[in-house]
Amino acid sequence: MGVPLASPERLTSLRGRTPTIATLCSHSSLQIFHGARVEGFPTLGICVGEPPRFYDAFPLARPDRFLSVPSVKELPAATGRLREEGVVIVPHGSFVEYLGAEAFANLDVPVFGNRAVLGWESDRRKERDWLESAGATMPRLLEDPAEIRGPVIVKYYGAKGGKGFLLAKNREALEDFHPTGPYVIQEYVLGTRYYMHFFYSPISDRGYRVGHGSLELLGMDRRDEANIDELYKLGAQEELLKAGIRPTFVVTGNVPVILRESLLPKAFDIAAKIVERSIVLFGGMVGPFCLEGIMTEELEFKVFEISTRIVAGTNLFISGSPYSDLMEPGLSTGRRIAKEIRAGQQTGRLEEILS
Ligand code: AMP
Repeated sequence: MGVPLASPERLTSLRGRTPTIATLCSHSSLQIFHGARVEGFPTLGICVGEPPRFYDAFPLARPDRFLSVPSVKELPAATGRLREEGVVIVPHGSFVEYLGAEAFANLDVPVFGNRAVLGWESDRRKERDWLESAGATMPRLLEDPAEIRGPVIVKYYGAKGGKGFLLAKNREALEDFHPTGPYVIQEYVLGTRYYMHFFYSPISDRGYRVGHGSLELLGMDRRDEANIDELYKLGAQEELLKAGIRPTFVVTGNVPVILRESLLPKAFDIAAKIVERSIVLFGGMVGPFCLEGIMTEELEFKVFEISTRIVAGTNLFISGSPYSDLMEPGLSTGRRIAKEIRAGQQTGRLEEILS
């Protein structure tokens, strides 16, 4: 038996019924609804105003019903309805972003995964403490510009959507830097970016065992980031700057990637340590998470970020990935979540996977 994340009261609304899987109509909702439908769950789309029309174009991913709210911020007022409907909320990046981390943490309705992870993910210092104490290597933080020996990336606090970064080739290039707010300077890691989609189940007793459960790799992507991914066409950052264009990392799409097979043990090892550490720190990270990092030419994986819920890059793999195909054909992350909820219900262990 693992760690209970939800109190018995929290789960009262689910007693003796099949849960309805609900999420906000955005981000990876098509995948989440599709996966839930394939597994036979009723689905509910939470939308702002009228239900979005794009679901009409994707009938296999259309939620059965919609709950309309005037704005995402007003969702807490609708939790009574959600409990009546026996809903389990599946969070995704936009959900937490639009609602706000605090309001999300206090939502009085069952949520898939451990909501305590939010406090560790949303604070960059706590995130670093967690990952480094687990043994992950992260890009070095340079407290003093005098320590700069190579290229760096300057990140303003709260930089959102890939904007608010500054790249400098060396210390001299930062001499004219006049910050407009609090920031950190990080070593700019040269290498290939990988976004690895893992899933940790605390209630599975098969596969790659970690803690009392098992760790799965469901897919991998790389993000297309405008306009930094255009740099090679213009030759160099200076060319963009001469044209008055600042490099940004705004995500515009995703491309599938796979890792050299000989690097997979390294990927699993690092992900397992991060899960194990999360169990010690806050009762464990449950369900999908994404390790985001850069593989250097020395084949060292430097983690710059962890996302502790379904990431949009998993949308590439609604019908399976080169990794999930080796577990079960057609297994998306959305479908894996639905399977986990079913397993939790069948074994009476929902309190270990919901909070
Ligand atoms: P973040 O907001 O930390 O996810 O960073 C946004 C993007 O900036 C990432 O997707 C990477 O492409 C890039 N990036 C972040 N940190 C680093 C780093 N230390 N070295 C190189 N690229 C980075």
